[in-house]
Amino acid sequence: MTNATDYQNIFREIVSEFKIADDCGEVATYIPELGKVDPEKLGIHLTTVQKFHYSFGDSNDKFSIQSIAKVLSLTLALKIMGKDIWKRVGVEPSGSAFNSLVQLEYEKGIPRNPFINAGAIVICDILVTCLNNPKLELLEFIRKTSGVESIDYSSKIADSEKLTGFRNYALTYFMKDFGNIYNEVEPVLDLYFHLCSIEMSCKELAQAFLFLASGGVNPITNETVISPRRTKRINSIMQMCGFYDEAGEFAFRTGLPGKSGVGGGIVAIHPGKYSIAVWSPKLNINGNSYKGMKVLEAVTTKTMSSIF
Ligand code: GLN
Repeated sequence: MTNATDYQNIFREIVSEFKIADDCGEVATYIPELGKVDPEKLGIHLTTVQKFHYSFGDSNDKFSIQSIAKVLSLTLALKIMGKDIWKRVGVEPSGSAFNSLVQLEYEKGIPRNPFINAGAIVICDILVTCLNNPKLELLEFIRKTSGVESIDYSSKIADSEKLTGFRNYALTYFMKDFGNIYNEVEPVLDLYFHLCSIEMSCKELAQAFLFLASGGVNPITNETVISPRRTKRINSIMQMCGFYDEAGEFAFRTGLPGKSGVGGGIVAIHPGKYSIAVWSPKLNINGNSYKGMKVLEAVTTKTMSSIF
């Protein structure tokens, strides 16, 4: 496998090989804060389980991690409530958009998986039930998991999410009608909108997700985040559901479990080897980073480090 110099050179090589034709996609504009981001930003950070770091470009810039955070809220809910959460949310790929309402009606208010919006909202409902101060405790969990104290919500983004979150309100009321939201809608969505507003850099993301590459223990902080068995489960769900209706495409091209967000970030895990975060704000039509998907495909191809 690769040594220190290789990863660094491989990142440079990949980026220099990009053609003008690869510069596609649109920055998310549903809230002003995301629309203002420089579309040309590109950051890459890879951390190995042996604690070696390799980075490229804007890897220390904080950005809105959006749905990537759904992996961390799921981890906390699993830790607190265990397998009972699977009574309220499934583990099947959705094959539809992240904010789709259609499946929910057929499946009686049980979301297909915890990474589509409806599923992440059910996870927030569970956290609101189980925690005294859900926003604070979730943030503390993420800080502890990553070892990065500066990680925070963006109140500007959380406010904008709320102002434009009509579809998320619709999903939540719909699920409440089916009896799958136990709390009032407002506190549940307040937690959800804050979850989406978390800002982190590629370096911080790679570090925060490293526990998924090393059996549930973050080798940097020595923190046991979750058991090896649950680590396997979270990685499996990322593999099947991390990219909504493009999960098959990501598995096909990159061959790693991963999770994307509409801020243009993607995290991918090679169990036993590394975690990698890429950030490029322009999104494809499925709401996944156009260039981020290409970078990760090239990384696993060039290093021959797909899990398949
Ligand atoms: N804040 C976005 C939403 O709730 C998150 C979507 C995403 O990153 N895929 O719709």
